[in-house]
Amino acid sequence: MSLDWIQPAQRLRSLPPYVFARLDELKARAREQGLDLIDLGMGNPDGPTPAPVVAAAAAAIEDVANHGYPPFEGTASFRRAITAWYHRRYGVKLDPEGEALPLLGSKEGLTHLAMAYINPGDLALVPSPAYPAHFRGPAIAGGQIYDLILKPDSGWLIDLAAIPDQVADRAKILYFNYPSNPTAATAPREFFADIVAFARKHEIILVHDLCYAELAFDGYQPTSLLEIPGAKDIGVEFHTLSKTYNMAGWRVGFVVGNRHIIQGLRTLKTNLDYGIFAALQRAAETALQLPDVYLSEVQARYCKRRDFLIQEFASLGWDIPKTKATMYLWVPCPVGVSSTDFALSVLQQTGVVLTPGNAFGKGGEGYVRVSLIADCDRLGEATERLRKANIRYQPEPASV
Ligand SMILES: *Cc1c(COP(=O)(O)O)cnc(C)c1O
Repeated sequence: MSLDWIQPAQRLRSLPPYVFARLDELKARAREQGLDLIDLGMGNPDGPTPAPVVAAAAAAIEDVANHGYPPFEGTASFRRAITAWYHRRYGVKLDPEGEALPLLGSKEGLTHLAMAYINPGDLALVPSPAYPAHFRGPAIAGGQIYDLILKPDSGWLIDLAAIPDQVADRAKILYFNYPSNPTAATAPREFFADIVAFARKHEIILVHDLCYAELAFDGYQPTSLLEIPGAKDIGVEFHTLSKTYNMAGWRVGFVVGNRHIIQGLRTLKTNLDYGIFAALQRAAETALQLPDVYLSEVQARYCKRRDFLIQEFASLGWDIPKTKATMYLWVPCPVGVSSTDFALSVLQQTGVVLTPGNAFGKGGEGYVRVSLIADCDRLGEATERLRKANIRYQPEPASV
C-alpha cells in the first residue's frame, strides 16, 4: 500500500531545511571509516553537572513526595529559588506566583511562546543569524518571519533604525539574544534601553534569550532585559541551566518577566505537559544556590579555551576578536567559500566538526561556529589537523 497520503502538516513542511541533517550524515560516515572526530559543532557543554546538584537530585529521587505529577506551574520552591536568584543577580524583584515559570529547557519555552502568541500570518522580527528556535518557533506557529540581518561592522547588533515603521507596526513579537549564539556578540546596556523603547512604541512583545547570563569573561556582566525600566511591561526573558551548570541533559530552564505574557505560555503548556520531574526541580534549586566560586571556575575554563583557540587560529591567518561571553567563536570562512562547503571540507579533510553559519539563518552565511567544548589539548589537536591540511584563512578568493 502506498503511504504517500501520510504527509506531515503544513507547519512542518514549511520549516527551512535542517542544515545539521547533512552534517550528521557525513559525521556518521566519517565515524564508520574510523576517523577520530573532534566535534566542535554542538553547543553541548562537556563538563559534569556540579556534585552538589547531582547529590540533591539523588536524594530527591528517593522522596516519594516527588513521584507524582508535579504542579503545572512548577514547584513553589523552585519558583522562589528562581526569583531569589534573579534578585541576587540583578537586583530586580519578581513575583514567584506569576512572573517566573519553570520550563523543560528554554528551547521548549521559546518555541511554545511563539505558538501561544502567533497567529498564521502574524509578523515576527527575528535576527539572522539566530538560535534556530527563535525563527523555527514562529515558523511552526505559521508566522511570517522578517529577518533582521546582522552585520559584522555593527558588532552583530540589531539595527533598529533600519526596520521600516510599517514593518515595526505590524510586528507582534521580537526575539533577541545577547550574549549571542552564534556570533558571541554582546550588547551594551544602551542597546537594551533602545530596544525596550522600540518595542513599547510599536507594541511588540519582546523576548530576550539570556542563556549565557553567566558564561562571561574578563569581568563583563551581561545585561538582563528586566533591569531596564519599563521592560517588564512588554517583555520576558528566558534562562537555562544547561550551559552554566552543565545540565543540558536535565532539561531545565525558566522564563521570567511580564505575567500576562507568561500566562499565555502557561495556558498552552497546561495542555501539553506536566512540567519538570519534581526531583529535578529540587536539584535545579540547588544549582541556582551554588556559591559564586563555582561560576568563576566555569568561566575560567571557557576563558582559557577562548584565549588558546584565538591564538591558534591567529597562527592560521584568522584575526578573531576576543569574545566577552558565550562558549563559541564565530569564524569567517575563507573568502569565496560558503559556510556549508567550508564546514564539509574541514570535516572530510580533518575530522573536525564545525557548524556552518547558515544553520542559523541566511545572515550566518560566510561564517562557521566553533564551540569551546573540548579541553585545550583537543582544541590544539583540531588546529594541528587544519594546519596539516593547509586550511587557513584566505582573505582573497582562491584562484581555481
Ligand atoms: C543552548 C541554547 C538554548 C537552549 O537551552 P535549553 O535550556 O537547553 O533548551 C537556548 N538559547 C540559546 C541561545 C542557546 O544557545
